[in-house]
Amino acid sequence: MKFYISVDMEGIAGIALKEQIYRGEMFYEESRRLLTDEVNAVVEALVQAGATEVFVKDAHASGFNLLCGSLHPLATLAVGPLPLSNRFPGLDGTFDGALLIGYHAMAGTPGALLEHTFSYADISELALNGAPIGEIGIDALLFGRCGVPVVFVSGDDKACAEAHRQLGTVVTYETKKGTGRHAGLLKAPRRVLAEIGESVKEAVTRRSECKPYALPGPYEMRIDYTSTNLADAHAFEADGVRRQGGRTLKLEDDDLMRLLVRTFR
Ligand SMILES: [Zn+2]
Repeated sequence: MKFYISVDMEGIAGIALKEQIYRGEMFYEESRRLLTDEVNAVVEALVQAGATEVFVKDAHASGFNLLCGSLHPLATLAVGPLPLSNRFPGLDGTFDGALLIGYHAMAGTPGALLEHTFSYADISELALNGAPIGEIGIDALLFGRCGVPVVFVSGDDKACAEAHRQLGTVVTYETKKGTGRHAGLLKAPRRVLAEIGESVKEAVTRRSECKPYALPGPYEMRIDYTSTNLADAHAFEADGVRRQGGRTLKLEDDDLMRLLVRTFR
């Protein structure tokens, strides 16, 4: 069995502040250890459940946050350029499932720790075919395009709720409960390391219940920017863009990947 892990940093146990998630900030180095230990616990559980190959993509910021020298020996680290069209290097239809580790709720979710959608500064909401969507949904669509179902999501309680809402059947594990963007109740990381493996094994057992995530086309993306300035800039950059008021653009496309690439251009 083969599994593909995409790992973000905001939903990792013990993390609640921006000072923990950006290179050069005061608490960043400890967060790299927390991230690496949690990923290793997930890889170990997958191996114990029968996985023979596990790819790990570091999807946070620069994509170089994991402590590579401490990564589980059975993991393959997938690195590559940042364009969305190559967000998951090496992904193809041979994987039995995808796991989203350390994920966070979409921008604007009340009571969600470190909520955002790809950018803290630029985007206040994305809606695909009329329904709000965040990173969990978009990454699930990218895996789904290759026929790979998301079988497991970890993060705060709001991220887990979003995963169930968006994907239907999926196993989730809460690393913390959010009460605000930087406020909540965090499980001790050592407790999470002890617990998360059992949930991962349950996800492997139940993987056939999870379907590759897909939405029928044609596609329309509504982008609500945080300022008119950003909407101005993007409106002039792209073809086929409709302005819907000061801060909002709409893009249409028959091809999902092309639409997503245009959204984040
Ligand atoms: Zn992140």
